[in-house]
Amino acid sequence: MLRIQKILHFSGKNISTNLAACHQLSSIKFMSTDSSVHKDSLSFKEDIKQLQTSLQKIIDVHINPFVDEWEAAKIYPAHKIMKKLGEAGFLGISHPVEYGGLGLDYRYTMAAMETYSTISCGGIPMSIGVQTDMATPALARFGSEYLKKEFLVPTIAGDVVTCVGVSEPQAGSDVSALKTTAKKSGDDLIINGQKMWITNGVQADWMCLLANTSQGSPHKNKSLICLPMKTPGVHVAKNIEKIGMYSSDTAQIFFEDVRIPAKNIIGEEGLGFIYQMLQFQQERLVGAALAVYPLERCIKDTIAYTKERKIFGKPVLHNQVIHYRLAELQTEVEALKALINKTTDAYVEGDDVTLLASMAKLKAGRLCREIPDACLQYWGGMGYTSEVYVSRMYRDMRLLSIGGGADEVMLSIICKLMGILPVEK
Ligand SMILES: Cc1cc2nc3c(=O)[nH]c(=O)nc-3n(C[C@H](O)[C@H](O)[C@H](O)COP(=O)(O)OP(=O)(O)OC[C@H]3O[C@@H](n4cnc5c(N)ncnc54)[C@H](O)[C@@H]3O)c2cc1C
Repeated sequence: MLRIQKILHFSGKNISTNLAACHQLSSIKFMSTDSSVHKDSLSFKEDIKQLQTSLQKIIDVHINPFVDEWEAAKIYPAHKIMKKLGEAGFLGISHPVEYGGLGLDYRYTMAAMETYSTISCGGIPMSIGVQTDMATPALARFGSEYLKKEFLVPTIAGDVVTCVGVSEPQAGSDVSALKTTAKKSGDDLIINGQKMWITNGVQADWMCLLANTSQGSPHKNKSLICLPMKTPGVHVAKNIEKIGMYSSDTAQIFFEDVRIPAKNIIGEEGLGFIYQMLQFQQERLVGAALAVYPLERCIKDTIAYTKERKIFGKPVLHNQVIHYRLAELQTEVEALKALINKTTDAYVEGDDVTLLASMAKLKAGRLCREIPDACLQYWGGMGYTSEVYVSRMYRDMRLLSIGGGADEVMLSIICKLMGILPVEK
């Protein structure tokens, strides 16, 4: 309760080898902060409510009124919004207090994600998720004091914008195949290569970069590195045009003899692949959490519209095929919520949630394709216009089955952990 008052005060082909490397993860304890507050207790529920109410106020005043304008501009003012959120304490909910975070357990972060997803587009919640839970978990857990002060503190404060650089044109699902190198030269690293589809990449001040720091096994030759984006040799080539997530910028970035200090390596050199796999657990949980509200709102908006819209002398909703379908879709969302809650509780307990987080991401991705599509159908021609929430979500939410590990990658992980993935010889 005391800590929460701070907020109120501020008001592929290598999949089986990749997975074998992931098994090393079990030797690294999963993140767990204070889970002593029981989730059914009144004070916990009250804390969550207060956190969500203050975050909602910021969204209602400083974000939602401008979303249409930012969607049209194909970018939103990330620095301005991060500063607002950072000042109120919302960018480091589960990050350590000594670096400006609130030190709350991961259930609070997931509750905040629920609220972030009431932003009326997919791009901005995704961009904020990158800042809070995709680019920073490894830094917070394994980074040196120097790196945490230099990069984590301003990120949590909202003074800088960050991005995560894993994917490359030839390495998306198969992270181990990435080609960007960071070679030692005295006390420095010289970086060459490129990154593709980088969320926040146009506006970011620093990147959590995954690069090869040596030759040899692709699971032991990589490091995560804090790379300031203003360093000479970093070229942001373009803001990639997309079918959705318009407010969020997505960059292609080239590195040409970029020189930075070797002390910018996060944790131990050579453990970058493993750190990134750990970092993916939060990315996947957050991805799933950000889907729930949009899915529910698609159903709700569709009920409201089809109740009003009359065809053949009766409301569209009165066709059994339609109200049955909407009831079934709502049931799917409830099942997703239960899976997310179970995964979050296990994560807070410090369990390895690779299986559950992969399942949650898979299920959320599947529903993000099924629900907006099914709902859009019942809007008829209105559904095909850009004017309605359902059509925006039809475009935006399609990403979840691809980004942060495609559905098939999730299925491979689940199969591996179920012991049914054929082993490649
Ligand atoms: C809008 C957007 C934002 C993004 N943001 C970021 C970011 O901030 N940082 C970052 O590093 N990356 C980012 N990405 C990249 C994203 O994570 C990758 O696109 C994703 O991992 C898939 O990689 P790929 O595109 O190379 O597809 P590929 O690896 O070429 O895969 C193509 C398809 O093959 C199928 N497939 C994959 N593996 C298997 C398998 N084992 N079995 C069967 N089929 C399989 C899947 O259907 C997959 O979609 C972003 C992408 C987009 C579109």
